[in-house]
Amino acid sequence: MTHPAQPKASHFINGEYVEDTAGTPIPVIYAATGEQIATVYAATPAIVEQALSTAKEAQKAWAKMTGTERGRILRRAADIMRERNHELSVLETYDTGKPLQETLVADATSGADALEYFGGLAGSLTGEHIPMGEDWVYTVREALGLCVGIGAWNYPTQIACWKGAPALACGNSMVFKPSETTPLCALKVAEILHEAGAPAGIYNVIQGMGEVGGALVTDPRVDKVSLTGSVPTGKKVYAAAAEGMKHVTMELGGKSPLIIFDDADIDNAVGGAINGNFYSSGQVCSNGTRVFVQKGIKEKFLARLAERTGNAILGDPMDEATSFGPMVTENQMNIVLGYIEKGKEEGARVVCGGNRADMPGYYIQPTVFADVTDDMTIAREEIFGPVMSVLDFDTEEEVIARANDTEFGLSAGVFTNDFSRAHRVIGQLEAGSCFINSYNDAPVEAPFGGVKASGVGRENSKEAIKHFSQVKSVYVRMGDVEAAF
Ligand code: NDP
Repeated sequence: MTHPAQPKASHFINGEYVEDTAGTPIPVIYAATGEQIATVYAATPAIVEQALSTAKEAQKAWAKMTGTERGRILRRAADIMRERNHELSVLETYDTGKPLQETLVADATSGADALEYFGGLAGSLTGEHIPMGEDWVYTVREALGLCVGIGAWNYPTQIACWKGAPALACGNSMVFKPSETTPLCALKVAEILHEAGAPAGIYNVIQGMGEVGGALVTDPRVDKVSLTGSVPTGKKVYAAAAEGMKHVTMELGGKSPLIIFDDADIDNAVGGAINGNFYSSGQVCSNGTRVFVQKGIKEKFLARLAERTGNAILGDPMDEATSFGPMVTENQMNIVLGYIEKGKEEGARVVCGGNRADMPGYYIQPTVFADVTDDMTIAREEIFGPVMSVLDFDTEEEVIARANDTEFGLSAGVFTNDFSRAHRVIGQLEAGSCFINSYNDAPVEAPFGGVKASGVGRENSKEAIKHFSQVKSVYVRMGDVEAAF
């Protein structure tokens, strides 16, 4: 019998599901059991061509609609997503292995927020009137054209919407390629957008590995590339896009600092560290994986952290009581276990966890290392799993310098009850998305993105509009033209 997660076909192009079994088969494995639940096929060159030509053609009429008309479609799609939240959350859990307890509140709901927010903004995208004496300049905010979205595997519904919603609001069309690891959810986003009234060809989804992404990025018809992925992939995609002088948004990895001063509320700080390391089993780009704790509260912090981490419920992701799921794939599990071994070898102290969980599926125990030093591999490289490194510090000046001593700059957090210190420290941290007495909140209203190697551009908020549109300026002369001859 076909599994309920099996999609109707691999791709969604020009308003309908399209299959081409000549492409490389991509098995979809449920991370909680290791069982194959679906198969899709990578896009062949013919499928890539179909998606790009259809999106290029459809964009012209879409851009001519009023923003209010486009916005109404996006808001209708948001309503449909919310009505189907349960079904979409179950699919997200099959795609990623994340527990239903999380997917019910963080995936289709977050995608719907983006569709609603950018749907609301679409009608108010205007230019400026700039008086020049008798003459004037006016500006027009125009669509870029055909945009490509390429997603990572940790938030397949959210990423498809965070890229699609602002792109479509601005009058662009999109071809979206999900990660080969999680190909299912973006197809539902496309289906829902079309059910809500998006014209055929405006939002297309095609499957594939890096080569398909590469084919999209290098096509001369593509005007913009928005990637969520790792830094090495980001560098390749950025370089390929530069060849064609395309616009880019790069949402890449991180190794973010979370700084806890000794006057902080310990339970809130522990809660922030748990949210910033163990949500989605640690597979979150903005995680605060270097937890700097001021020496005076170190042992108290570690004791409370170990006690609360012990309350994590590992189990069947479809059981709503489960609060901690498996790694997305066996490969990712092995990468993370490799880092845990490195941590032990390099002399960090295991406070809790430290092993694969003794159960089927790709589960790793939530792991806390203490006595971590800045030079250890686990303190330098992005692990993308449930591994928290706790480092000690003495002074504010010292911790700021150490927090910034990384190639990454996605996020940073500070826990303290001294508000002038909180703002002073945040002001000096090299990161794009920061938190004071909190961690990892990502509302659609707030800009999201990194500095340094963590990326360029911003998603969400009014900032995203700037990255999916361009400004045309028009000088209007009222008098005669003066010329030298
Ligand atoms: P990858 O960089 O491996 O892949 C990202 C996407 O790019 C995938 O769809 C991948 O395809 C595709 N791709 C790979 N090579 C190329 C290429 N040469 N040209 C075009 N596309 C290509 O990242 P992961 O999927 O492993 O995701 C984890 C990473 O994503 C982490 O580093 C994490 O920090 C980052 N991330 C960043 C976020 C942010 O907003 N800053 C949010 C979430 C994750 P395929 O996988 O199918 O081969």
